[in-house]
Amino acid sequence: MAVVVMKFGGTSVADVERIRNVARHVKREVDAGNKVAVVVSAMAGTTNQLVAWVKDASPNYDRREYDAVVASGEQITAGLLAIVLQSMGVTARSWQGWQIPIETSTAHGSARITNIDGGALRARIEGGEVAVITGFQGIEPGGQRIATLGRGGSDTSAVAVAVAVNADVCDIYTDVDGVYTTDPRIVQKARRLPKISYEEMLEMASLGSKVLQTRSVELAMVHRVRLRVLSSFVAPDQMSPVRLEKLEDIGTIVTDEDEIVEQQVVSGIAYAKDEAKVTILKVADKPGVAARIFGPLADANINVDMIVQNVSSDGKSTDMTFTVQAAELSRTLDVLKAAEADIGHFDVQSSADVAKISVIGIGMRSHAGVAAEMFKALSQKGINIIAISTSEIKISVLIDAAYAELAVRTLHSMYGLDAA
Ligand code: ADP
Ligand code: ASP
Ligand code: MG
Repeated sequence: MAVVVMKFGGTSVADVERIRNVARHVKREVDAGNKVAVVVSAMAGTTNQLVAWVKDASPNYDRREYDAVVASGEQITAGLLAIVLQSMGVTARSWQGWQIPIETSTAHGSARITNIDGGALRARIEGGEVAVITGFQGIEPGGQRIATLGRGGSDTSAVAVAVAVNADVCDIYTDVDGVYTTDPRIVQKARRLPKISYEEMLEMASLGSKVLQTRSVELAMVHRVRLRVLSSFVAPDQMSPVRLEKLEDIGTIVTDEDEIVEQQVVSGIAYAKDEAKVTILKVADKPGVAARIFGPLADANINVDMIVQNVSSDGKSTDMTFTVQAAELSRTLDVLKAAEADIGHFDVQSSADVAKISVIGIGMRSHAGVAAEMFKALSQKGINIIAISTSEIKISVLIDAAYAELAVRTLHSMYGLDAA
């Protein structure tokens, strides 16, 4: 017997027929004697619709009410799945975040889970009842207001529930059959990775591979949760129920580095199109200027990613280019404008037509020349690099958005990741 958390994303629960398909996956586990908690997302497209309604209602919306609205999508799917399971003879009930409760911080719209008391939940599922839990939502302390976890947050709900009930495995069912070397929608030759390390998955997710929410990987890594990504579109009776000694047979398992025998230098390529670049032209080249630029941005909670400093065209002053989330661009420009008295007069250019392409691999720690190969391959395609940032296991470059897909495909082939 295993305690299993099964999470189903939006496309997997897109309509009642697909919810029936999900219920069959759940029933397979129950029939095999496994104990199950399910975490569901809203039906595909629902959260986008809810967000759009909020923004239409008022551009300056109250973030607590945003959460009240957008959390509703998951409530629908949890209830529907419980109904379908019951109709198949499976004992099940739905749970909303506040009923468990899944406690969160008060950062509405991007809250973090702070605590889940899994005792009662674990007792219920051990008693044979399937717990169908709304993903993406929880409640702030004191039972005040509903809070949501940021887009893609149901993955994090699933891992947090897995930690709380001490599950043996957390299975993330989605519309692809695992984690690939890059987004299979962009590169047809992308290959499924049977295993990926927590560290690499964390980089992939935070650099744009939305197959798992970054926070879910972080949480799984800290608590050593056995996390798998697999497809809900495989017929439920074509999959065998979870057997702990055979977790590696399907999908991708996110695991410890030392469990991965065959290590490539580069394991995957991620891309993100949601960044914007800002260039501040001709600021004084003297100590303290960078602090006067980036201090106010930090105070305004704006995350700056890549930073490049160049000598200005006049040879006397300096230009500073950096990236922020595209959604923060206009706020960034406002903050800079407000700080102009401190920074000194400057001209500013900005653009959201940029993409960040990253190559990731723990093999880079012990292998020189990965960056040089990357720059050469991009230059051979005539792709200009605007900014670079590196860490021990990744290299990111900022390029013109129009070249994003070409760059991903080029690097995918160059690092030998293409499927045969
Ligand atoms: P869900 O609704 O199930 O949460 P998501 O759309 O959030 O599904 O995540 C699955 C999608 O992630 C896939 O359809 C795929 O296009 C995308 N994706 C991006 N990068 C990768 C990758 N490296 N491997 C697999 N899928 C990826
Ligand atoms: N429904 C939420 C979203 O679309 C959460 C999730 O699907 O993970 O972002
Ligand atoms: Mg998702």
